[in-house]
Amino acid sequence: MTETPSQGFATRAVHAGQEPDASTGSIIPPIHQTSTFVQDGVGGLRGGYEYGRSGNPTRAALEVQVAALEQGDDAIAFASGLAAEDALLRAVLQPGDRVVLGDDAYGGTYRLLTRIHEPLGVRLDTVDLTDPAAVEAAFAQPVRILWVETPTNPLMKVVDIAALAAAGHEHGALVVVDNTFASPALQQPLRLGADVVVHSATKYLGGHSDVLGGVLVMNDEGLAERVRFLQFAAGAVLAPFEAWLLTRGIKTLELRMRRHTESATAIAGQLAAHPAVERVYYPGLSDHPGHEIALKQMSGAGGMLSVALAGGERAARTLAEGTRIFALAESLGGVESLIGYPSLMTHASVRGTPLAVPENVVRLSIGIEDLADLQEDLADALGRV
Ligand SMILES: *Cc1c(COP(=O)(O)O)cnc(C)c1O
Repeated sequence: MTETPSQGFATRAVHAGQEPDASTGSIIPPIHQTSTFVQDGVGGLRGGYEYGRSGNPTRAALEVQVAALEQGDDAIAFASGLAAEDALLRAVLQPGDRVVLGDDAYGGTYRLLTRIHEPLGVRLDTVDLTDPAAVEAAFAQPVRILWVETPTNPLMKVVDIAALAAAGHEHGALVVVDNTFASPALQQPLRLGADVVVHSATKYLGGHSDVLGGVLVMNDEGLAERVRFLQFAAGAVLAPFEAWLLTRGIKTLELRMRRHTESATAIAGQLAAHPAVERVYYPGLSDHPGHEIALKQMSGAGGMLSVALAGGERAARTLAEGTRIFALAESLGGVESLIGYPSLMTHASVRGTPLAVPENVVRLSIGIEDLADLQEDLADALGRV
């Protein structure tokens, strides 16, 4: 594991990998919008780059930045979060290997495993990773990958990363944590013992809903080399402009996560007190079952929360379709607030599976708008359910 760096998180977010351009002094590193790199004689590379699929300086700048934030040795940037996940699964799994996935995981991860990797001979079990007995039982058979999400999507379960990493390693599993919901500003899984961190950079890392991207971060040189080769051979690289947008977004990550958390905390309290609401899922609330673990492993509970409506599916859909500032859309983690109805939107692919989301649940991604406006919008929409 890498040492704790001497610079603070926000300083690293602004400066890691972001040196001014040596040839012009441009304080912002340029976008190297190029497919290839000229050679001085055959094989005479000027900066180590030869072709955009094998490497690009803008992508490399992003990789250095994200590695510094997660405190990993290597970061590898992909065209999307799922492209990153797929490369990792292909680099690690052989036919017959078993994956254990949390039972409230991102629907796309479940679809990737069941529709693409199970037909290749991989076995999958979904387990409630907040239940130590269920975790112990899952290790009765060999586990190649233990895939952890925390907080989970959309029910905001919090799982103990350090405990699961220890259990996973005791049983020879590679422990992967999808850190999309927390972002490294709030939680750094490699420091808690995880082997690999996965990001959908599309969400909080980018932060502005204008780019798709994915990143893997790890401290295992051999694994990083296999993943890089797979990316080079199969081609799911992040484009230079997308990489540049991500480096730009990440510079304000720490500020944004503080605001997201502050507003989400206030809104969680507002919703918990509303008669139309049956339950609020937010790890920052002291009655949330994962609150103690969240306090231990996160520096803030983040900007995502879900609510179960007392009036069932109809009430949930009325709320999801009834806000003015909160936009009805998939995705999360941007500066603008979003509202979603998971069972027919983000989690439509897991309807009827063990990962199905209750039909009275609405998910909120709290943006950075004025809190009073967001609260008024929700109060108005809730008044109509
Ligand atoms: C969005 C998301 C992904 C997939 O990322 P894409 O960039 O959409 O491919 C994976 N995990 C979580 C938790 C997500 O929210």
